[in-house]
Amino acid sequence: MSDKRETLGFQTEVRQLLQLMIHSLYSNKEIFLRELISNASDATDKLRFEALANSDLLTEDTELGIKIEVDKEQQTLSVIDNGIGMSRDELIDNLGTIAKSGTAEFLEQMTGDKQHDAQLIGQFGVGFYSAFIAADKVTVESRRAGLAADEAVRWESEGEGEFTIENIERAERGTRVTLHLKKDESEYAESFRIQSLIRKYSDHIGFPVSLTAIGEEDAETKVVNSATALWTRSRSDVTEDEYKEFYKHLSHDFADPLTWSHNRVEGKREYTSLLYIPSAAPFDMWNREVPKGLKLYVQRVFIMDDAEQFLPLYLRFVKGVVDSSDLPLNVSRELLQQNPDLTSMRSALTRRVLDMLKKIAGDKDSYQKFWGEFGQVLKEGVVEDHSNKDKLAKLLRFATTQNGNDTQDQSLDDYLERAKEDQDKIYYILAKNYATAVASPHIERLRSRGVEVLLLTDRIDAWLADGLTEYEGKVLVDVAREALDIPEEDDEKAQDKLNDENKKLLEKMQNLLSERVAAVNISRRLVDSPACVVASDQDLNPQVRRMLEASGQELPESKPILEINIEHPLVIRLSGEEDDSRFEALSNIVLDHALLAEGSQLEDPSQYVQRMNAFLLNDND
Ligand code: ADP
Repeated sequence: MSDKRETLGFQTEVRQLLQLMIHSLYSNKEIFLRELISNASDATDKLRFEALANSDLLTEDTELGIKIEVDKEQQTLSVIDNGIGMSRDELIDNLGTIAKSGTAEFLEQMTGDKQHDAQLIGQFGVGFYSAFIAADKVTVESRRAGLAADEAVRWESEGEGEFTIENIERAERGTRVTLHLKKDESEYAESFRIQSLIRKYSDHIGFPVSLTAIGEEDAETKVVNSATALWTRSRSDVTEDEYKEFYKHLSHDFADPLTWSHNRVEGKREYTSLLYIPSAAPFDMWNREVPKGLKLYVQRVFIMDDAEQFLPLYLRFVKGVVDSSDLPLNVSRELLQQNPDLTSMRSALTRRVLDMLKKIAGDKDSYQKFWGEFGQVLKEGVVEDHSNKDKLAKLLRFATTQNGNDTQDQSLDDYLERAKEDQDKIYYILAKNYATAVASPHIERLRSRGVEVLLLTDRIDAWLADGLTEYEGKVLVDVAREALDIPEEDDEKAQDKLNDENKKLLEKMQNLLSERVAAVNISRRLVDSPACVVASDQDLNPQVRRMLEASGQELPESKPILEINIEHPLVIRLSGEEDDSRFEALSNIVLDHALLAEGSQLEDPSQYVQRMNAFLLNDND
C-alpha cells in the first residue's frame, strides 16, 4: 500500500553523489543553507506561477515566504516554505533519484582527491543532498499544493543507502526540511550564525526569509533578508559579493562566475537582464537533451526555468535572469517562440554577451580561462550566427605555427599583425591533433618562408573553417587544398621543374596509381617531405570526410591528388628507378606515407606492410 511506511534504496548515483558531497565540501560546509533556501525559493516561485492559473492553490495561506527555525536543544535546523510542495511520488523521484542524464559517467571521474572532487561538484551543481554535510539525519515533510492535509508525506534518511517514506497529516502547504545536526555541527543551531549566513547567501531572494530561535529567551521571529530580488535593484546598490552569491543561488554552481552584466532596458520594450559567464563548463554542456537557457520572470513573477528562446544555442553556457514587463503572465514556451518582440530581445541579449566576452578578452589570462572552457561552443556561433560573425571571429583563439605549443591563444588580429606586408591570405591546416598539424608536410614551404599557419584541431574546426571564409578582407585558405596559392617568389622555377623527365615521372606514377589518386602533381608546398596528398578544390576536406563517414554518412568516392617534392632524394631515386616492380612498390609507399602523415587510415594496411617488407629486404640485397 502506498501510504504505508516504506523503505526505499537510493539510486546508485545518489549514493555516489552523497559521498562526494560529504567528503569534498568539508571546507565549504555552510553552503548547504544557500542550497536549501534556493530550493525553497524555487518552490515558492513555482507556486506563485501555478496560482496564476489556479488561485485556489493558495487557499488562505497567501503570504509566500521562507522560514528558518533553529532549535539548540534539539540540535535541529529547519528550512520551511509554503511553496508548491511535493506529492509522495514527487518526493521519491526528486530526492531518491537524479534525473540528469550522463550522471553515472560523470561520477565515475571521482578520484577521492578532495580538491579535485570538490571541483567536480561545482560542475554538477550542489543541491539538496548537501544537507548531509551538516546533518546525520534529514527529515522532509511536504504537502503538495492542491492536495489534502492527510495526503502529506514524510521522507527521512540518514544519507546512507536508503530513505523511508510515509504518509502523514500536515496542516500547512509546502515543505519543511529538518536537519538533525551532526555532533560537531552545532553552530548551525545558533541563531546569530544562521542570521549571518542568510544575510550572506540569501539576502537577494525575492521572498522574505524569517528566522526563529526555538527555546531561546525572548525569541521572536524576524525577517532577516532584504527580500528584494537582486536584479530589481539598481546596479550601484549591489556589491560584487552580492552578484556572486546570486549567481550561486541561480546556478547551484559552487565557484564564482567569471563575469556578469546587469542591465535595464527601457522604452518600447522594457526588461531587465542579469547575465553571468560561469568560470567552468558544466559536465553536461555537450548533451543536447539538457535544458538550457535563462530564468524567465514577468513583472517579478517567476515563469519558467531554462527559457532557451532568449539566447542562441552557442551561448548555452550563459546563466541568468530576464524579467520582462511586457510579456503576458501566461506566456508559454510555444507562445514565446511566436512572440515577435523576442527576436529583438534575443539579439540585444546576444550582443550583451558578446560585449562581455570582448571585455574579458582584454585580460589575456581571464580570457584563456574562458576559452579553455567554452571556446569550442563559441565556435559554433561563427557558423550559426551570421549577424555576429565578425564579432565572433574576433573572439576566436588558435594554436598556430608561431606559438610553438598547442595552446589556443592567438587571435586572428594577432595573426594579421605578424603577417607579411603583401600577405593577403590567412592560412590554416585542419588535422586531428596538434602533433599531426604541426608536423604536416603541407605547411613546410610556408614555414620555411616564415608564413604563419593556424593549426585547427578541434572537431568543430572543419565547420568553423567552412563558415569563416574571410576575415578583415583576407581570405582563409586551407593549406591541404589543390590550389594553394603560396606567396611565390619563384613561380618560374616551378615552371622549370616541369621538364620532360619530370613529366615522364608524373605520367608513370599517375598510370600506376590511377586507382588510388585523381592526379599526381609537382608540389610547391613541400620542403622536407617527399610527398603529400591534397584535396581537389571541389572535394570535401579529408577531416570533414572522415567525420561524416564516422557518423555513418555515405559519401561519393573521391580520390586525393598526390603531390611530390621533385627535389627530395626519395623522389629523385624513384625517378631513376628502372626496375618496374620496385618503381611500383616505391610509388605506392610514397603515397601510403603521404596518407599516414595527414592522419588518414590506409585502405589496405596489410598490403602496405607487405610492400614495405619486400622493399626493405630488396634494399638490403
Ligand atoms: P535541483 O534543485 O538542482 O533540481 P536538488 O537535489 O536540490 O536539485 O532538488 C531536487 C528536486 O527536488 C528539485 O528540482 C525540486 O523539484 C525538488 N525540491 C527540492 N526542494 C524542494 C522544496 N523545498 N519544495 C519543493 N520541491 C523541492
